[in-house]
Amino acid sequence: MHCPFCRHPDSRVIDSRTSDDGLSIRRRRQCPECGGRFSTTETASLMVIKRSGVMEAFSRDKVISGVRKACQGRPVTEANLALLAQKVEEAVRQTGVSQLDTNEIGLAILGPLRELDEVAYLRFASVYQAFDSLDDFERAIRDLRADHDASEPDSHDR
Ligand SMILES: [Zn+2]
Repeated sequence: MHCPFCRHPDSRVIDSRTSDDGLSIRRRRQCPECGGRFSTTETASLMVIKRSGVMEAFSRDKVISGVRKACQGRPVTEANLALLAQKVEEAVRQTGVSQLDTNEIGLAILGPLRELDEVAYLRFASVYQAFDSLDDFERAIRDLRADHDASEPDSHDR
């Protein structure tokens, strides 16, 4: 790592800190030549292969812009979206892969989006999973209802 001040080809790490989300490491460095201090951030590379075949770095912003439309008019805040994107990134990083395609990103989005807002989830799933009939919607809604029932175990004892 070159010193950004004097271009000295070496630097010393004086402090390392893992970010709150545990996905990156921030290092404070000092140049032994000019004494200048600077920081670097280290993250494992995670590449996304787009449908066109082009590779690009995974970006939470892209996840957010991908679901924003589905969340229109829903009680979903920017903070909700930021958290959703963080969950998606954690989920895909946990799989241990270093590259994945947009399809897999879509799959990783479905779970957290469903927890966030079911209407937005249905909208997103309808586009992402290419619902092409009412049956597809009915099946997705039936799944949601079934899960609601499953999460209320007491209702069966009455
Ligand atoms: Zn320097």
